[in-house]
Amino acid sequence: MKSATRRATSPPARRAAAQPRGANAAPAAEAPTLAAAASIDALRDREARLRAILDTAVEGILTIDERGIIESVNPAALRMFGYTAGELIGRNVSVLMPSPDRERHDAYIANYCRTGQAKIIGIGRETVAQRKDGSVFPIELAVSEVRLSDRRLFTGFVRDISERKALERRQQVLYATTKALADAGSVAEAASNVLAAVCERAGWQLGEFWVVDADAEALRLVEVHPPAGAGASALVQAGRGLALARGVGLPGRVWAGAQPTWVTDVTRDPTFVRAHAAVQEGLHAALAFPLTLGREVVGVMVFFARELRPPDGELLALLAEIGSQVGQFIQRKNAESKLRELAQSLAEKNQELETLVYVASHDLRSPLVNLQGFSQELAQACARLQAWLDAGELQSPHREELHALLTRDVTEALDYIRASVAKMDTLLAGFLRFSRLGRAALRIEPLDVNAMMAQIARTLEFQLQQAGAQLTIGELPPCLGDATQLNQVFSNLLDNAIKYLDPRRPGRIRVSGAVEDGRAVYAVRDNGIGIAPEHQGKIFEIFHRLHPDQTPGEGLGLAIAQRLLQRQQGKIRVESVPGEGSTFFVSLPLPPGLGQKG
Ligand code: ADP
Repeated sequence: MKSATRRATSPPARRAAAQPRGANAAPAAEAPTLAAAASIDALRDREARLRAILDTAVEGILTIDERGIIESVNPAALRMFGYTAGELIGRNVSVLMPSPDRERHDAYIANYCRTGQAKIIGIGRETVAQRKDGSVFPIELAVSEVRLSDRRLFTGFVRDISERKALERRQQVLYATTKALADAGSVAEAASNVLAAVCERAGWQLGEFWVVDADAEALRLVEVHPPAGAGASALVQAGRGLALARGVGLPGRVWAGAQPTWVTDVTRDPTFVRAHAAVQEGLHAALAFPLTLGREVVGVMVFFARELRPPDGELLALLAEIGSQVGQFIQRKNAESKLRELAQSLAEKNQELETLVYVASHDLRSPLVNLQGFSQELAQACARLQAWLDAGELQSPHREELHALLTRDVTEALDYIRASVAKMDTLLAGFLRFSRLGRAALRIEPLDVNAMMAQIARTLEFQLQQAGAQLTIGELPPCLGDATQLNQVFSNLLDNAIKYLDPRRPGRIRVSGAVEDGRAVYAVRDNGIGIAPEHQGKIFEIFHRLHPDQTPGEGLGLAIAQRLLQRQQGKIRVESVPGEGSTFFVSLPLPPGLGQKG
């Protein structure tokens, strides 16, 4: 390197050293004066110092002549470009530039020499340079002109700004992808946004989004950037038909390894399946990273660039992070769409079921009417037979037997039939009522629950008196709901509170209300028989009754209350201690202006 530098800096130095000698040529030949010797020493000293500066400079420094031929180059520049001095000196400086500057550089210098109009000289700017291995990197270039008596030289000061640019790019990529994900409504949109963000911000020409098809155990290309129309690139066309197995090709390798991968030149990578198409497209560098969900890979993104690019570890690390963000986004969206589908099919099933219940309960009641009618007729016929038997009008060897049949077996059977018919009738009527709930039109409005409760209390006065119970009603907040349906809910809760009091102590029922977490919450508390913990969830099921023989009822009240409340964003729950009493809590939205959501 030392000799290279010496060689590199030698032409101007030689000239500088030669000049004074040339000026004093005649006297020096005979007897050099002391002054001349001192001057030569000074010049040598200056040259050594200059050389030391050039050798140790961090910036690359090159000198070219007006034809662009490199005359000198310092070690920093040689390191930067990957050449030896012998390879560079005497060559046109355009070898250090990528196309199109490489082809145009001679014209740039000629133009400047002719017109004096500088694009870089004396100004400095950011541009790109090319290393010996073909890789391109960003530089900051300042050029100054040195005019000598007979010609001019240009000195270029080159600073490698790859690090700074890479950092800027990484920040831009991160910002753009985060925004891309935030703006996207679907996986396809997110994928094309992220592909565009990485291509545009990190300077890649082509981006691909491969998805893992779990059923087929293969990767498929589903999205590309720039969007591929009819004139899709050869690479994209080749990719469209592929189903890559785990470990096959660049995407398959990333899928298998779950690690970001950088390939400096895919055309020289024997494992790259579409190398032929890449050559055709003039694409070289490739970068691929997995879209991850924990340890699972759900997709792979691949990017291609025209030039050779050395790996950027920091960018890879950043993309690994972005890959996990995209993976989570995909999972979220998949879960959302599954949930939507589920809700949709649930709503359809519900609708079907409702119709079924409605039709069944409606249609089943007509044969019941027949059963009811004919069993009555049968009962009457039996009564007549019995009457004849009693009057001795029927003579038969089986008289005794007939008597027993009529009075015992037939009557018993008829009683069962009638009881079952009656039971079935109430059940069907209940079903019908319940199924109609979903169809009733709702009128949601702000409700004065104090007034509503006072009115319900008036209708219950007789019942309360009969039960010897006392009802107190506190101050109740207003709510948002359907007046008729809410009236039904509260009436039912109060009915139950009275019905399930404990006869061993005076009944105490209290209705209170409060605003909690932006909702109106009402409590109907009694000191009745209470409900065992294991039954507390079941009492809201249709027809579920705990003491069917002791109290009248259909087992529909709470099921209906829950259904009615659900339709108006209400909720109901119970807290109860057997032997002490129960409290039913009903919560509803507050009217606008009072609630948080209002
Ligand atoms: P029904 O009162 O017609 O049986 P509900 O659906 O209103 O139907 O109630 C279901 C069951 O819940 C009742 O049979 C009863 O066992 C229990 N239950 C409801 N309210 C109370 C209460 N306040 N105290 C104790 N048990 C209750």
